[in-house]
Amino acid sequence: MEEYSIGIDIGGTKILMGIMNDKADIIHTHRIPTPKSGKDNLLRELKENLKEFLQIADNENMHIKGIGIGVAGVVSAEGMILKGANIPGWRNINLYKEISTITHLPVWIENDVNALTIGEYYVGIKEKEKDIICLSIGTGVGGGVISNHVLLKGSNGEGGELGHITVNFNGPVCKCGNKGCLETYASGNGVAERMVSLLSENNTATNHHLLDSYEINSLQVFKWYHEKLPEAVTVVEEMLSALTSATKSLIRIFNPTTIIFAGGVITNSEWILKEIKYRLYSSNDVPNLEQVQLRTSPFKDNAGLIGAACQPWKKTTN
Ligand SMILES: [Zn+2]
Repeated sequence: MEEYSIGIDIGGTKILMGIMNDKADIIHTHRIPTPKSGKDNLLRELKENLKEFLQIADNENMHIKGIGIGVAGVVSAEGMILKGANIPGWRNINLYKEISTITHLPVWIENDVNALTIGEYYVGIKEKEKDIICLSIGTGVGGGVISNHVLLKGSNGEGGELGHITVNFNGPVCKCGNKGCLETYASGNGVAERMVSLLSENNTATNHHLLDSYEINSLQVFKWYHEKLPEAVTVVEEMLSALTSATKSLIRIFNPTTIIFAGGVITNSEWILKEIKYRLYSSNDVPNLEQVQLRTSPFKDNAGLIGAACQPWKKTTN
């Protein structure tokens, strides 16, 4: 009998839900904006949509093996969200209990980028490589490391937070309190915030017009970069240098065979990876660079969803 799982990818801006079969095909998907009005509303929305999905599965005689949830933030081994990232009030929530009580199904809760990494490992490379890294560049920057077939979690589940690698110890203060984290330069939010800050510092009439007339997000900054607007060139050059520097560190520390770049900021702008590769190969200071494959995720916007839905099938990576 064919088996199915339900995957839920909870991010700062959207929640993506899907039913996946054991061949990793996504059968049904549903996308809702992440409620910003507190954890109770988010939980209610999540449960209502989940009930609808279970009804669909029931109507179509699908046997649901379990539910996998990927969520931005620190997740304990017991499925407790200790610290949510990018979602206000999303902390100290026993999500495992909340979901298993209403569904009576096996439930897995995992950090979103760890889940995504597991998806790339099982579905993407089909366990053929033992050392891979995922760097997810979206609203924030997250990471996942599989070393010798095992997902690196650290002593309390906070391992693999690659977005907080310091790339400039005198840099701007990150949300985590540290200075010059990769996330401050390379995330969608970071790029937009750096752009607003540079335009405001340089107090010209043109900059006032840009600040007043445009919604400044990473795509807008990339457009201005290609139009050679000086502030955008500075912000994007910093982003590319930060990503190149962090990639070098990851290669030296973990000696991976593949680094997969996921997340909407980079998968929707493939030129970013080309620029990183150009800088890496030109610098000529990373040993055995040619043995490391650098590529974007083939799953694009579904990478987190596939990773979450993979949880009921995972074996050794936990
Ligand atoms: Zn940080």
